[in-house]
Amino acid sequence: MHGGVFRVYEADECGADGYPFAWHETIKHDVRALALNRCVRCGHPYRVGEHGNGEWSPCDNLCHHGGNVRWLRDGIPVSVEGHDCSWVDVAAVYDHEPAVTIEARWRILTVHHLDGDKRNCRWWNLAALCQRCHLAIQGKVQMARVWPWEHSEWFRPYVAGYYAWAYLGEDLTRDETIGRLDELLDLERAA
Ligand SMILES: [Zn+2]
Ligand SMILES: [Zn+2]
Repeated sequence: MHGGVFRVYEADECGADGYPFAWHETIKHDVRALALNRCVRCGHPYRVGEHGNGEWSPCDNLCHHGGNVRWLRDGIPVSVEGHDCSWVDVAAVYDHEPAVTIEARWRILTVHHLDGDKRNCRWWNLAALCQRCHLAIQGKVQMARVWPWEHSEWFRPYVAGYYAWAYLGEDLTRDETIGRLDELLDLERAA
């Protein structure tokens, strides 16, 4: 699957908000669906329209994020943990406390343009991220900046797709990119 809706859009294909028309119609929904409605960085699950205004949404055992969560016992909120610094081992809690549910605050699933360009809708530029991860990486992650250290696990396919395009001029699919991950990440070290 090359191109399709995941491509760069011309100015006349975009609305006044700077986004391609296809962004609102399909792209942002497709990116969330391809990520199985989870933040690709912290794993928090979120389905648009299913969590009221989005302030609280339930965690599951694939979550690996910090606090700012509340505990519910038999559906009734019993405590709020306000800090964002500690990790919550949701799987362990669910194992030991079957009556407990954990909900995270403000982790609505958004779609972030990693290079900041709304018209660049190549797959490697679009990451489904919850609001907190979106804020955490904004300004920190820059595709075009040379990065001599190891990339975070979640970020590798995206930056490798970018390197294939930037260094080799190759427009690879996600599967092709993952198949050549080490080779593509080495391009940066060689540069
Ligand atoms: Zn997240
Ligand atoms: Zn969570």
